[in-house]
This record gives sequence, structure tokens and C-alpha cells, in this order.
Amino acid sequence: MPRPSGPVSPSTPDEPGLTELSPGVSAFVQPDGGWCLNNAGVVTDGGATLLVDTAATERRSRLLARRIAESGAPAPRIVVNTHHHGDHTYGNSLFTPAATIVGHAVCRSELLAAGHQLEAMWPENDFGDITLTPPSLTYTDALTLYVGDIEARLLHPGVAHTRGDTLVWLPGRRTVFTGDLVFHGGTPFLLMGSLAGSLRALELLRSLDATTVVPGHGPVTGPEVYDTVEAYLRYVDELARRSHAAGLSPLEAATGADLGPFAELAESERLVANLHRAYAELEGAEPGAPLDVRTVFADMTAMNGGVPVACHA
Ligand SMILES: [Zn+2]
Repeated sequence: MPRPSGPVSPSTPDEPGLTELSPGVSAFVQPDGGWCLNNAGVVTDGGATLLVDTAATERRSRLLARRIAESGAPAPRIVVNTHHHGDHTYGNSLFTPAATIVGHAVCRSELLAAGHQLEAMWPENDFGDITLTPPSLTYTDALTLYVGDIEARLLHPGVAHTRGDTLVWLPGRRTVFTGDLVFHGGTPFLLMGSLAGSLRALELLRSLDATTVVPGHGPVTGPEVYDTVEAYLRYVDELARRSHAAGLSPLEAATGADLGPFAELAESERLVANLHRAYAELEGAEPGAPLDVRTVFADMTAMNGGVPVACHA
């Protein structure tokens, strides 16, 4: 991949800046990419600005808006949500009404159905003043936007990380914003999506032939990250088939599993969530069929030795 040309604004782990990837295209990467610490993307030609995703808290979303202003780019007129999860969408209202929120039709319906899910999961966390603001402009298969002459293709990969995913592909820059189809350094998370669909989404990503990959979480990388994600998904698939046939629960299967090289991926407790999803698919559930989120988070807590997963935003 071409090396990012460097920070365009000051950056600390708690107050990240923008990193320019190519002229007018930058990433807002929030270390360490763990729970609630997502990435955003900025595309501008100097006259118009498109923002890909926001952040989980009011403070971090305001910081993102400030970083955009500091870079000299106009305030975003379009915000694309890669999916409905709060770490990507909670800041939407800070950019409206100046910006139109764009997303897959199911991103809108899932956001409305999920409500204030992050506050419910992490009541001790300070999210700030969050007004849930779903996409007001939706699409179903593909939608092409232009930021000046920079083409941005919104593609729906089918059910993958969620039922309403969008990836944003800039063919002229060979740069893709994957949303949570890709975690870089972290464990994939299929609780609200599909294992089979996530493998299909990787085929779509590969077909784009991007050289710069902005994952939903973790540092900017190149297409080699797809190999790690695919290997992990195939590992989950095999473990699920074996354990399901042996009559083990997802938690029994996960606690007894040898993660091998995947132990290095952060948030390894997601294995049990991914097994819940894989089991559902083995039992014939529709891709993305709702699972009991509380049960799965309780199992992830058990995987963590009793320590609940924490939101880091
Ligand atoms: Zn995310």
C-alpha cells in the first residue's frame, strides 16, 4: 500500500488526528481500535466534504468535526454510515442538518430498532448528549456519489457484519473504507451479521483491488488484512461445525478452543459471539436473524474470566 502521507492534525491516543492517505482523503483512526473505538474517513475536494462514519461519544464526534475544520475542509454535507452500530453513528446529529446522513435502508431500520443500545450495554459510560439520527437518504444495492470529481461508490455486500452494511470504495484512489467488514488487529464480530456472508463480503472486497484499506477498527492497512480475516472466519466455521456436532454449547466450544495464531487478535472473547452466529446458521437461521445480545455478552464476560467487555470511548 502507499504509505499515508502523514498526520494533518495533532494526534494523541485519546485525541486522534486525521491521517492523509491521498490528497483530500484521510482517516480518523482511534487507537487501539477496541470496543467503541472505530475509525472514520474524510473525503474532500476542498469544495465539498464527505464523512464516512462518526464516533461513539459526543466528545469524540466533536473532536472529529474539529479535526475536519482544522484540516481546512468544509463541514461535511454528506455523512455515510457503514452500519448502524453506535460507535459509527452516535455522532450523526452533530453533523445534521448541514449534512445528509446516507446509509443502507436496513442500516436505518436497524438503528431505529436498536435505539440507545450502547447506553443500555454500558450504562456507566459517558456518551454525552446523543440524539439518534438514522440515515435520511437510503439505498439498497449501490449508490455512487461524487465529491467534486472524486468518485465514491457505496456498495452493500449483503449481510456480513450486520444486515445493513455499506463499504465506501474510491476507485480513483484505490482506497476502500470497509466499516466493520474488516477489523485490523482485532477479532471480527459477527453477532448481528453472518459468517457465510462475511466470507462473501471478503470476495467483494478482494475484487475491488484496493491498495489502501481503512478498516472499521485498527490501523490503516493494505489488502493483506483480508487473508487474516478470512483465515479467522474459516477457523470459526470449522470449530463451529465440529463443536456443534459434538453437542457443545458455544461457550463450551469457545472456552475449550485453541485460538492458535488468532489469540494475538484483540477482543478474543468475541469468539463465543461468533460461534453463536455460526451455530444459528448451522441450524438454518436466516443470515442476520436476531440473537439474544444479553446472553451473548454474558458469554463474552465468562470468556473474559468474569470481567465484562468494556466500551473504551
Ligand atoms: Zn464498529
